Amino acid sequence: MILHKLMKRIDILTLFPEMCNAAFSQSIVARAIKAGHLEIDCHQIRDYTEDRQGKVDDYPYGGGPGLVMSYQPIRSAFNAAVEKHPAANGEKPYTIYMSPQGTPFTQTVAKRLAEKERLVIICGHYEGIDERVIEDIVDEEISLGDFVLTGGEIPAMAVADCVARLVPGVLASDEAYEKESHSDILLEYAQYTRPETIAGITVPEVLLKGNHADIERWRLENAIERTGRKRPDLLEKYVRREREKNLYYFDNSATTRQWDVVTDRMDSVSDAVFANPSSLHRAGFDAEKELNAARSTILSLIGGSDSGSLYFTSGATEANNWVFRGILGANPRLGKHVIISAVEHPSVTESALSLKEYGYEIDTAPVDRDGRVNLEKLTEMIRPGETALVSVMHVNSETGSIQPVEEISNLVRKLSPGTLIHCDCVQSFGKIEVNVKKLGADMISASAHKIHGPRGTGFLYADKRVKIKPLLYGGGQEGGFRSGTENLPAICGFETAALKICENQAANLPEVQEMKKIFTEAIQSGLRTYVINSPEENCSPYILNVSFPGLRAEVVLHTLEQYGIYVSVGSACSSHKKNRSTVLTAMGVNNKVIDGAIRISFSADNTLSQCEYASKILVKEIKNLYAVHSRVNKR
Ligand code: SAM
Repeated sequence: MILHKLMKRIDILTLFPEMCNAAFSQSIVARAIKAGHLEIDCHQIRDYTEDRQGKVDDYPYGGGPGLVMSYQPIRSAFNAAVEKHPAANGEKPYTIYMSPQGTPFTQTVAKRLAEKERLVIICGHYEGIDERVIEDIVDEEISLGDFVLTGGEIPAMAVADCVARLVPGVLASDEAYEKESHSDILLEYAQYTRPETIAGITVPEVLLKGNHADIERWRLENAIERTGRKRPDLLEKYVRREREKNLYYFDNSATTRQWDVVTDRMDSVSDAVFANPSSLHRAGFDAEKELNAARSTILSLIGGSDSGSLYFTSGATEANNWVFRGILGANPRLGKHVIISAVEHPSVTESALSLKEYGYEIDTAPVDRDGRVNLEKLTEMIRPGETALVSVMHVNSETGSIQPVEEISNLVRKLSPGTLIHCDCVQSFGKIEVNVKKLGADMISASAHKIHGPRGTGFLYADKRVKIKPLLYGGGQEGGFRSGTENLPAICGFETAALKICENQAANLPEVQEMKKIFTEAIQSGLRTYVINSPEENCSPYILNVSFPGLRAEVVLHTLEQYGIYVSVGSACSSHKKNRSTVLTAMGVNNKVIDGAIRISFSADNTLSQCEYASKILVKEIKNLYAVHSRVNKR
């Protein structure tokens, strides 16, 4: 362990200094103090009282049992301790109050404290200490565990002892604490000493043979086994960490790993706010409050106007279906003509096409080589007074191409003011700015699982001017527009994920740009045959679509998978279909290039070193595959 600063001194303020002195006058810590590795001093609080009878406590205001330690003697003892050994920089020492109400003490907390140059530990007694001591000088309350002792001396001794042994030089070797229980996640392996056999039990043979590699392997296995037996919670944490360590997940446009804070929020909502938000009792009211708070949060994150409503759905697919099915019959005056772009997600394309049987005409706006809608062609397609809806996605899920949604909205508004505009923001929400007013959209849709939220939740935002019929009928939830009891834990998890990702959106961008650059440069400098399908400009940094013409994308995918590197073939939603990517086809990409196209999609949770490693493997394996490919073709 590398300590940035060295712990030099601990002052303990107590009514029982003899207790603490006894602990530090023996064994390892005593030797460390003698050798000058650190200083520990215990101060009698009573020596500093200004009360003539020597009182250090009094009855609590408001009545109640016991006595409370007064402010004055503690504050004076603190001042004296600081004055006696002032810090070189004049800083106030980090001050802890031992309290059953504090942060639970763990090895991680000990490591953090060991990085403070000076610590003052205040021990309470009786009913505790006057709250104003805490407000005035305490930086942190620390608890030894969820139980109550008579005084803070035993906890203070435990904290000081644990922190002291982390100070370099206190233990004979740094390795001693680096390998023991709680220094990482696993508990320490079993230890044996002479004799080899006692009480009929023999030391495991591997430990007697002196083969260090075998001994290390045995110790790890033993540590795993005993952690699972004694602390299954820790083993679970370990397994998860190890799995993540070897995972190079670059399929974040398909779905992202659900953040722990999201899972925690969902757990606590499931637990504490389990009632149905539609119930009339207080518990139902509390659930409804949570639901509406989540709605307001997400509305504000997308700059939703007061005239807009946000409905929670099972995801963007439902929201997109709802847009098309919802206009059926609801807007007879808008006309029966719909325009979608040629590069939409199937949930838009298929829903739009399904309107044909109701007499709608569906036009597909073509895109250029960068996958952006051709505005001239779109202009020609708009039928003023007849086009009911134009639907264009914000960021393309396969290539990352960003559509000029603002320009499209302005164009549509100018030519046909009554036409509704829908924008699928699944790949943009939380990643680049999504503001309904700026986009000029009447409706937008998004999903939680693309931003580290739970699967099965999303929303449709609709401006009040939009007349839309429900897709689901029943109990009249979501203002009567989307029946079915709301999935409150998932919705709140969505809120947590959305808040976190939007808060970090600007900071994440350069980091993710760098990730994409690492892959792009590795491919450009390491390979001769490749086609980058993602446009250079107006493209999301979160998506890189690249083809290796002549190779099959599935083969590339499974080759990378062997290294724990996960990418996708085209878009995940359509990758099980045998059809060629309609997006790349619409962009005019030839079939050979399409068949070798993979999508590498990033999250701010990826690291630059993961990208360095995965891009090197990608280049190496593509070279190998091309070598095999050319040998086969020569035969
Ligand atoms: N009335 C207090 C409460 O309910 O939070 C408990 C007071 S306790 C009897 C007296 C003192 O013992 C506390 O002021 C604190 O310094 C110490 N103490 C007791 N249990 C502790 C624990 N689990 N961790 C740290 N300090 C503890």
